[in-house]
Amino acid sequence: MGVVGLRCRECGKAFAVSPSYACDECLGPLEAVYDHAGVDAAALKARIEAGPRSIWRYADLLPAPYDPDADLQAGLTPLLPARRLGEALGLRRLYIKNDALNPTWSFKDRVVSVALAAARRFGFEVAACASTGNLANSVAAHAARAGMEAYVFIPAGLERAKVVNSAIYHPTVVEVEGTYDDVNRLCAQIADEYRWAFVNVNLRPFYSEGAKTLGFEVAEQLGWRLPDHVVVPIASGNLLVKIAKGFEELASLGLVERRPVRISGAQPAGCNPVARAYRAGQAWVDPVRPQTIARSLAIGNPADGKYVLDVVRASGGAVGEATDEEIVDAIGLLARTEGIFTETAGGTTIAVLRRLAQEGVIGPDEVVVAYVTGMGLKTPEAAEEAAVSSVRIPASLRAFETAVLADHRGGTPQRAPSVVTG
Ligand SMILES: *Cc1c(COP(=O)(O)O)cnc(C)c1O
Ligand SMILES: [Zn+2]
Repeated sequence: MGVVGLRCRECGKAFAVSPSYACDECLGPLEAVYDHAGVDAAALKARIEAGPRSIWRYADLLPAPYDPDADLQAGLTPLLPARRLGEALGLRRLYIKNDALNPTWSFKDRVVSVALAAARRFGFEVAACASTGNLANSVAAHAARAGMEAYVFIPAGLERAKVVNSAIYHPTVVEVEGTYDDVNRLCAQIADEYRWAFVNVNLRPFYSEGAKTLGFEVAEQLGWRLPDHVVVPIASGNLLVKIAKGFEELASLGLVERRPVRISGAQPAGCNPVARAYRAGQAWVDPVRPQTIARSLAIGNPADGKYVLDVVRASGGAVGEATDEEIVDAIGLLARTEGIFTETAGGTTIAVLRRLAQEGVIGPDEVVVAYVTGMGLKTPEAAEEAAVSSVRIPASLRAFETAVLADHRGGTPQRAPSVVTG
């Protein structure tokens, strides 16, 4: 078992397992190839269930060996039935996959853990990435844990909290003047000149496979069963494509019964190249210039955009979008109905979930999983708009009763019965 090579996703040309990412014939992206011949499904399932409480329980299906010294135990995050949010949206069997609960508070820990395990195997000493924010947090933390030097490249002017969440691990943080797409182009040039492990450039075939674990885990947590419909946020599009691939691998290995899963995508209206192409019936994605509060999804030229369109259309899903206002509103809705505080990417997912439910794209009895991929303290500016303000009072019972119980809530206070003793 295990990874046996890389293959071009466009022309199929085979390559050795190596830190390369583009086909030398057609420039298509490379993808990991495994040999799963003769795998015993029951034995594999038992191995997974007895494995580490992290993404590495799926090591048989990942393209790098488990490396505990470089690992922060990403994964195995909660899958919660969301009854109250479901009621608000008219969905009876809704689940939230809360992937904000990772070591650096976003799903990026999954892809970075796999990429850096591969990087160490290839002998790299420097970790790097082109990031919209969360990836930089994760690369900086995992590099610190592994004792690697780190350079993280982000567009200038990101949320303060995201910059601090990288800087604390002591990488070199490079703020590049321009959009993420400019950062990405620069990093591809640097990766050609220096032997650094750019997790999402030269190590992309390994990085990208880490996202399959968000498909594996949901199936395992549903009792080795596939859901009916999932809603996934889109930046580069990798996560969505790999969740679908994860479901497909489990079915072809016989770990779950094969059944159709509809895959829907979510984008902010201020960076909606895939949603636009979906609506226009196009098979390709035209780049846009991002202008949205959902900075972690602000990729105007998504590398996997056209594969997202293929997956979504073949599955019978849709790609929806949400305005900044709807994103802020959805952050508040998720928090007050389910007690989960997400960043703007999660707000985008919940806002699009709501819209797809309203439009009937998602049916009321489907088993639906919405992927919440990052935590709210990363984008406090957006959350402040959705949060209720506090009430400030002098420290007296009378002030509490008049200012809080009577004024603020508007009702007559119900006094507690006095305690009778003796
Ligand atoms: C990066 C990111 C995504 C989407 O990732 P892609 O694989 O690039 O589509 C979703 N949510 C959050 C919070 C992210 O940081
Ligand atoms: Zn090719």
